[in-house]
Amino acid sequence: MGEWSDYFEDFPEENPANDGRGKLDPALAEMLRAQEERALKAKAEIHKLRVNAWLKEKEKYYLLTEACPQCGLEELKAYCVRNEYYLCECQDCGIFGKGDTHDEALKATFDALGEGLDWKENREPWAR
Ligand SMILES: [Zn+2]
Repeated sequence: MGEWSDYFEDFPEENPANDGRGKLDPALAEMLRAQEERALKAKAEIHKLRVNAWLKEKEKYYLLTEACPQCGLEELKAYCVRNEYYLCECQDCGIFGKGDTHDEALKATFDALGEGLDWKENREPWAR
């Protein structure tokens, strides 16, 4: 088990599944586990919806596709997002860069060579 179970072993009185006398209430523990599982599923679903909404929105800002500095494929898409910033993202290897101009975004992408970036794995793509 993880850190929380270790913690509750040391401080059983702080375990919400505990009856307050150091005895575990299995029904309450199960209910809390199920509740936590539902919360995690809901959080994952919300994250998925936000990512999909962002991917759809991003396509509205598409500018052009050019050669990627990392993999060499003609897969580097450039976007001008909400007229606020420029973004370059390789659809193949995943390298990306951001800047105030297209040239700056391209330079940031070049500067990221070898850093192992992959925008497709970014957990909060709208936040960068
Ligand atoms: Zn690439």
